[in-house]
Amino acid sequence: MSIKQNLNQIKSSLPEQVTLVAVSKTKPVSEIMEAYNAGQRIFGENKIQEMVEKQEEMPNDIEWHMIGHVQRNKVKYMASFVSLIHGVENFRTLKEINKQAKKHERVINCLLQIKIAEEDSKFGMTANEASEILRSNEFEELKNIKVVGVMGMATFTDDQDQIKTEFTQLKTTSNQLKSLNSDLEIISMGMSGDYPLAIACGSNMIRVGSRIFGERNYN
Ligand SMILES: *Cc1c(COP(=O)(O)O)cnc(C)c1O
Repeated sequence: MSIKQNLNQIKSSLPEQVTLVAVSKTKPVSEIMEAYNAGQRIFGENKIQEMVEKQEEMPNDIEWHMIGHVQRNKVKYMASFVSLIHGVENFRTLKEINKQAKKHERVINCLLQIKIAEEDSKFGMTANEASEILRSNEFEELKNIKVVGVMGMATFTDDQDQIKTEFTQLKTTSNQLKSLNSDLEIISMGMSGDYPLAIACGSNMIRVGSRIFGERNYN
């Protein structure tokens, strides 16, 4: 199937409230343009440098999402255009995003990445750390960021029960944080292998790569 057919098939299966982020990491501009020409406008990349290069070449009405680990020293390269940063793992990163956004007189939307997986390799903060940030006076003073939700990644496993437990945990955390701050409307969870389950557990933003563009080649 073509990129366009894959996209249309996924989109036709999504409930109205679910936003699709097309994960285009490692894929060339020509293939991303196929998705663009099929109507897709939201793309996710996991490396800041790669996202910057693609953004410079591609149409201006694209919303670029940073879905990967955010290195603080590289925030400045994306601050002029990034529309949502999914992987904010600590307060220091949030402060750096605020500082760089201010230089461009922008407000950058961010998600707090919550660690729900068992694996040590997955990044993120605990629900308590997230609520401490949201309650702090220092957070109140950050005028150039807006925290609009949470993001999480389940353990890489075939065990559907475990994935479901982890997604449900993120939904619960989202509800708790939303009671502190009503801006937190987004729950970014679900990828190619698990997005239907994620949606059933309350996700309203999915990040899908290989189901749209085919398997990635890292060579
Ligand atoms: C690569 C990636 C995805 C997409 O993965 P697929 O399995 O190809 O859909 C989603 N989220 C994050 C954070 C990723 O790095």
